[in-house]
Amino acid sequence: MDAKLFDRLKMALATELSAEQCVELEEVVKRLAGRRLGEAAVARHTQEVAAARHCPRCGHHDVVKHGKDAAGHQRFRCRRGPDGGCGRSFNAMTGTPFARMRMPEKWGAYARLMEEHVSLDDVVASGIGISRHTAWRWRHRMLRAQAAIQPDQVAGVIEADETFFRTAYKGTRGWKRGAPPENRPPRYRGGPALDVGLSGEQVPVLTALDSAGGVIEEVLRSRAGIAAALNGRVAEGSVVCSDGLKAYVDVAKRHGSEHLCIAPPRKDWLAKAKGGKPRKKGRLGLGHVNAHHERLKTFINRELRGVSTRYLHHYLGWARAMRRPGFRPEQLIDEALRHCLPPDC
Ligand SMILES: [Zn+2]
Repeated sequence: MDAKLFDRLKMALATELSAEQCVELEEVVKRLAGRRLGEAAVARHTQEVAAARHCPRCGHHDVVKHGKDAAGHQRFRCRRGPDGGCGRSFNAMTGTPFARMRMPEKWGAYARLMEEHVSLDDVVASGIGISRHTAWRWRHRMLRAQAAIQPDQVAGVIEADETFFRTAYKGTRGWKRGAPPENRPPRYRGGPALDVGLSGEQVPVLTALDSAGGVIEEVLRSRAGIAAALNGRVAEGSVVCSDGLKAYVDVAKRHGSEHLCIAPPRKDWLAKAKGGKPRKKGRLGLGHVNAHHERLKTFINRELRGVSTRYLHHYLGWARAMRRPGFRPEQLIDEALRHCLPPDC
C-alpha cells in the first residue's frame, strides 16, 4: 500500500473507530500476520533496527534509512564520519543467520514443518515450493540461533553428567567421491562403537540441568573440556550432583558450591534384593539428567535417524527449543533475526 494512503488510513482509524471495531480489527490483523509469519517477522525486526540505529558491521550508531532494495526491504546506511562509520548499507537481515535469505513468504510454513520434525524429503513433498537443499540450508540457519540460546548460569540443585554420541559424517560427500572423512568404510547408524570405553569414535555431550529447568549443553572434544565448558556458569551456593568425576568436584569448588557424589546403582541383583533401602522421595540424584539424555538419544538417533557430529550442537538447540514452555514456530524466525553473528560471517 502506498505510504500516504496508509497514513490516511491510520488517521481515519484513530479518529473514527469504535471500541468494538478496534477489538475486531485487532483479530483481523493478528490473523493476517499469522498467515505471513516470515514477512511479519522481517517487518518487526526492521522496526527494531530503525529504532536501534546500530550498524551490524562496525557497531556505529550514525545510521540513516537508505531506500528499499529489490525485494522491498528497508535499507539502512552507516554514515562515514570523523569517528569512522563503515559507510556500507545493510538491511534488517544483515549480520544474522538469515542474511540474503529469500522467500520470506515461505518461512512461516517452513517453521511449522520444523515444529513437527518433518524430514527434508517430506518438506519437499509437502508442496511448500523449496528444494531439498534449500530446506537443509534454512533448517541450519534457524538452528544456528537455537544452538546459541542457553542460560548464562545454572543455579540451585544442578545435575551434571555427560552422554556420548558416535561420531558421524552423515551427508558428507567424501564418502561417494572416494575421499572418506575417516579411514574406514561407511557404516549404518546405530550399533555400538568398535572400541570399548571412551574412544575417538564418540563425542561427549555435557549436560547441566538445574531445578528451575535451565539447561546447559555443550558438545566437547573430550571429557577434559568439562571444566572449561562450565567455567563461570554455575551460580555460587549451588549444589552440583554428579557421578564424582574430578572435573565436577573442581567446578563446584571453584564456584563456591557444594558437590554431591551420586554413586551409580549397584548392578549386583542379589545385593540389591537383600539390602537396598527404599529410595526416599526428594532425595537428590541424577534421575533428571539421565532421563534428559534418554530423550536426546531418542530424538537424535531414532527420530532424526542420526545426525552429523558437525551439526550436533544445532540439533541439541532444536531439542531445547521444542521443550521450552509456550514455544511457537515463529520463534525460530524471530530468534534467528535477533541472533547477531560475528562481523566476519
Ligand atoms: Zn558501519
